[in-house]
This record gives sequence, structure tokens and C-alpha cells, in this order.
Amino acid sequence: MSLILIHTDRFAEHQTPPGHPERPERAEVLDAIAGRWRGRGTEVVAPREATREQLLRVHDADYLRRIAETAGRATALDPDTYTSPESYEVALLAAGACVDGVERVMSSAHRAAFALVRPPGHHAERTRAMGFCLFNNVAVAAAHARALGARRVAIVDFDVHHGNGTQHIFEADPTVLYVSTHQYPYYPGTGAAEEIGRDGGRGFTVNLPLEVGAVDDDYQLAFTRIVVPVVRQFEPDLVIVSAGFDAHERDPLGGMRVTTPAFAAMTRELRAVADDCCRGRLVAAVEGGYDLQALGTSLDGAIDALAGDVQPAAWPSSGIRSSRGDEAVAATSAAIRGFWNV
Ligand SMILES: [Zn+2]
Repeated sequence: MSLILIHTDRFAEHQTPPGHPERPERAEVLDAIAGRWRGRGTEVVAPREATREQLLRVHDADYLRRIAETAGRATALDPDTYTSPESYEVALLAAGACVDGVERVMSSAHRAAFALVRPPGHHAERTRAMGFCLFNNVAVAAAHARALGARRVAIVDFDVHHGNGTQHIFEADPTVLYVSTHQYPYYPGTGAAEEIGRDGGRGFTVNLPLEVGAVDDDYQLAFTRIVVPVVRQFEPDLVIVSAGFDAHERDPLGGMRVTTPAFAAMTRELRAVADDCCRGRLVAAVEGGYDLQALGTSLDGAIDALAGDVQPAAWPSSGIRSSRGDEAVAATSAAIRGFWNV
């Protein structure tokens, strides 16, 4: 009953064009972190490829066929999203790592799992690759947890970008809660507070659009006032985390000012909810994070938050709040009134 890391050095084999931020060097950071935690006695296992059946729960058959056809070829799927000859297999391993984490945690073999993967997944739509993402790793994981008997799955996404794919895949589904903090307005354009899901899934999408420049204190406010209370009230059987580190102050894509210790604090908050709701069952997967140093230190802190004994979240205080954090929390609170008591 402890933390397991799921990782393979094959994640470096997904090549992107020179200058692309989602570059193979990110996999070297993941390799180094996996090696360090293995050295400290944490179990690290290699993933299996996700199966067609697992992928079909969130992607359509025609899309799977189109991605499979990229095997052995370098292609551009959209202006940001490329394949190299190995990308199809590597993407299957990334989704499979998240599935593997779900199986280990749902079977209580381990309390928590962290999938150290690339390419990321949360922009991938049911029928479309987008934003560096081929398969929606976390959505595949959530659907797998449901297939294994989880009644309710909460996905929390703290990547600086909104997870449009994850939101759209589950927006009509009340059994999968999607909660996202993200820079807004920003790529991919979705994620307004008013987007709360549709049909039977109304209320089960919760967006916290934060203005560019948000600091640790804004994230602390968002987590303690909205993210944690909503997930706690949802009473999930599993918490899944889209762990993107591109809200870091050093990140070349994101415009936020989050510091390294805040990523550990966010993860500790989510671990505490999982401990209270579902015996600690939590599966995290790497999404973005494009400054190699910030990715390494922030991911290390997030893993540390899931390893060892429970400790209270230690939020760093910058002493400044962009003041817009309060407005974002107020907008989200108003949008989800009647669904959640926040
Ligand atoms: Zn991102």
C-alpha cells in the first residue's frame, strides 16, 4: 500500500520538430526522476500499451485508425501536434501507463500511482489530436476506472492550459467530475467559469479561469475555496490528477507565477481529499511543463507529496495576491451555485 511510479525510457522516442516545446529532453527529466525515486526504494514499473477496447471508451474508431496510420511516419496532425515513426507506440504506452496506475490503485495493490509520461493528453478530443496530445491519457484512465467499478471519478487538472478534451469527453457524464484551474483567456480558448457541463452532467464540470500572472496565493485560494470542497462533496472512489507543471514561473509557455513548492502543496491537498474519500486512491499523470528545471523540481515535489506519510499542505506565501484570484473564485462559485456548497 504505497506509491508506485510508472515509466519507461521509451517516452523519449516520440520526436517533435526542432524548437518544439514538447521535446524528447522532457523524457530525460522523467528518466532522471524515476531513477532517483527508484534509488530511494520506490517501485518503478514499465507500462503496457493501452488496448483498443480501453481507447474506444473515449476516442472513436475512425480517430484510432487515423492515429494508427501514423505508425512509422512523421506527420503533422495539427499546427502544434506532430508524430514521428515511434509516436503511435509511445502514445499507446502513455495511455497504458495511466490505465496501469488505475488498475494498481483500484485493486488496492498500491495506494497511489504517478504516470511519468509523454506525450501529454488533456487536449486530445474524442476525434481529434490537439495541443501536443494524441490520446487523452487521463480520460482513458477515468473510463477504465469506471469499467472496473468505480462509481464516481474526480479529475483535477492544474496544468496551465484548460483540458478541453477531458472536459468535452465527460461533460454530459455525472459520474466523472472535471475540475480545472488554468490561465484564461488562453490556449485552447475553453474553460470559462460558465462551462459547467451539459444535460445530466450539468454541475460536474468546474472551471477556475485565472488571469495571467496568478501567484501561489491565487492557487491556494482556488484550491481551498473551490477545488478541495467540490471534490470532497463529490465523494469520489478515485482521484485522478492531470499534473501539468506549466503554471510555473519559469515556464516558457504559461504566464503564471507559481513556484515549485506550490505544486507539492496542490498535490498534498488532493492527497488529503483522496485519503478522506477513497482510502487515498489517487492516480496522477504528467501533462505539460516546458522548462526542464521547473519540470524536474516541481514533479519531484508532487511525487514527494504522494510518498511517505501524510503531511499538511505547506503553501508558500508570496505575500501578494493578484486580486483576480478572488474574482475567479467568485465567478466559479456563482456558476456552480445550486450544485456545490462552496
Ligand atoms: Zn499545458
